[in-house]
Amino acid sequence: MTDLETRVKSISYKLISEGVDIYKNNQLDELTLVKHACSSCKKAWYMNLTECFFCGCINSYLYYCFKCKVYSSTTGGKSQCGTCEEPRKKICFNEKCVSNNSNYQKELNRPKNGLMDRGSPSSVSQTHCLSCGSEYNEYLTRAVKIVNINNTKDVKFENSFLFFDRIIFVKNDENKYLIIKNKMEIKASNKFENKINLNKIF
Ligand SMILES: [Zn+2]
Ligand SMILES: [Zn+2]
Ligand SMILES: [Zn+2]
Repeated sequence: MTDLETRVKSISYKLISEGVDIYKNNQLDELTLVKHACSSCKKAWYMNLTECFFCGCINSYLYYCFKCKVYSSTTGGKSQCGTCEEPRKKICFNEKCVSNNSNYQKELNRPKNGLMDRGSPSSVSQTHCLSCGSEYNEYLTRAVKIVNINNTKDVKFENSFLFFDRIIFVKNDENKYLIIKNKMEIKASNKFENKINLNKIF
């Protein structure tokens, strides 16, 4: 793999891990980034998130064992409790939720892997922004070009950059990033950052 290929792969990996979808054309250094975001505050909008149907509490990604009364992580874990081997359930994290009332708790969590399991009849996808409460969401699209450079003095604006919404300059040896929108911003070329700042892209 060339330096640029490795660079583009590692940038893509970071962006995907932050919930950004990536579409590629046949140019290695050109990416189209799509983020599903809140229309007001631009924070990520999760389609696969579940809210408790009863209280609106957000999926905690925790399992609960009714017998041992302990929570454990759902990531990579088996659905059986490691201690007692009873099936663990994804229950609502809110103790005061009616679904955790002792009269209903077992019954409501019986289907699938529990109330908060994706695809369970009582879970729904995100209906409002987790940060600001807005009900509106949208897909933000950015055409991005990645430019590998060796020195800060190599930061130059080329006319071909006009076709892109953002240019990401990467200092090859230092893993530092400069994200610019237009020619005006290129003066800030000493403002390289240690990580990709998503707020500068969307
Ligand atoms: Zn609940
Ligand atoms: Zn147990
Ligand atoms: Zn918001």
